[in-house]
Amino acid sequence: MVPQTVMHSLVSYARAKMAEIAAGNLTRVLRPTARGDGLIVERGGKKLISFSCNDYLGLSRHPKVIAAAIEATKTYGAGAGASRYVTGDNPLYGEVEARLARLKGTDGAIVFGSGYLANLGIVPALLGEGDLIVGDEWMHACMHGGSRLSRAKIFLFRHNDADHCAEILARERANHRHCIVMTEGVFSMDGDRAPVKRLAEIAKQHDAWLFTDDAHALGVIGDGKGSAHADGAHGQVPLQMGTLSKAVGAYGGYLCTDADTLELVRHRARSLIYSTGLPPAALGAANAALDLIETDAELVAKPLAKAQLFTSALNLPAAESAIVPVMLGEPKRALAAAQQLEEAGFMVVAIRPPTVPEDTSRLRVTFSAAHDDADVLRLAETLRNLKVVTP
Ligand SMILES: *Cc1c(COP(=O)(O)O)cnc(C)c1O
Repeated sequence: MVPQTVMHSLVSYARAKMAEIAAGNLTRVLRPTARGDGLIVERGGKKLISFSCNDYLGLSRHPKVIAAAIEATKTYGAGAGASRYVTGDNPLYGEVEARLARLKGTDGAIVFGSGYLANLGIVPALLGEGDLIVGDEWMHACMHGGSRLSRAKIFLFRHNDADHCAEILARERANHRHCIVMTEGVFSMDGDRAPVKRLAEIAKQHDAWLFTDDAHALGVIGDGKGSAHADGAHGQVPLQMGTLSKAVGAYGGYLCTDADTLELVRHRARSLIYSTGLPPAALGAANAALDLIETDAELVAKPLAKAQLFTSALNLPAAESAIVPVMLGEPKRALAAAQQLEEAGFMVVAIRPPTVPEDTSRLRVTFSAAHDDADVLRLAETLRNLKVVTP
């Protein structure tokens, strides 16, 4: 074997950088985790009840979803073979897109390789130099990524502060050509909802296009239709993006919008054009899962109900989504709490900077339709006994 060439400057840079990260208790470890039945996960030989998956409806393990994935693989193979524009536009895309559009009540939808890729593609497809983005300060990393790629000027408004958003628009809008106002429908690390209706009104007043990232809203709020429906703003959000990898239980990202905008995004989104199509299994699974979201209202209502059972057991403010943060401040405290929960048989992952702002390290607890109420209450009890929650 030929020994690998070591670039000393590279290695010493990597070591110094990692020492900095370790000093801040911000080391990240990949831990092989087998999601057996989706709820009980196996890690390091231990079985834990997961309160950390985004599989809010348990659909990644639904027999119909698994069967559809297998069927798609048998029919079309394991990989797409090429970009959608070459030979990767599997017929299942059309079905998934039609379902998404129907669920959201838009002209159409376009499916991307992932939610991350969707955001990297959509924003630069619509905005460029001389344009403006006004976004919630807590918006997801890939919304920042897409924004920066677009070269538009970016201003952030205080989290969920629609007045601050309006203030920035009043000051900046006239100096720019086109403008997108960006928010998450349900915030991924805090579980709170954006004031979508209010933002839609403000955006409209300033001729700005509201863009919502519904990664954690689809399948969970607004009868599964997401944040615009939940906030009574149906038909008022021109750009509704989301993912097929959370409540839908599969993989892929999407944009739901009007026919003309869709056509433009299809022509300009580089992450769509220059990236291979999804594995057919992901499309088959998404199709079956979206069918369940459309038709099984009882299932869709469950994750929020479980989250609210948890918040009421701990006298916390009522959950607004399937995500409940338990704030701990220092990264060390969050890690210690996660460790203690693990010893009690629960998996609840600690979230630290840079994923969340400094001094807001936390446990991020997520709820699934598949959780037993008894386990939800036992987790609440355990947290109370750990004294990490002070009601
Ligand atoms: C998870 C997430 C994404 C990325 O979606 P993937 O399909 O996992 O790439 C985008 N936005 C938000 C708010 C998310 O939470």
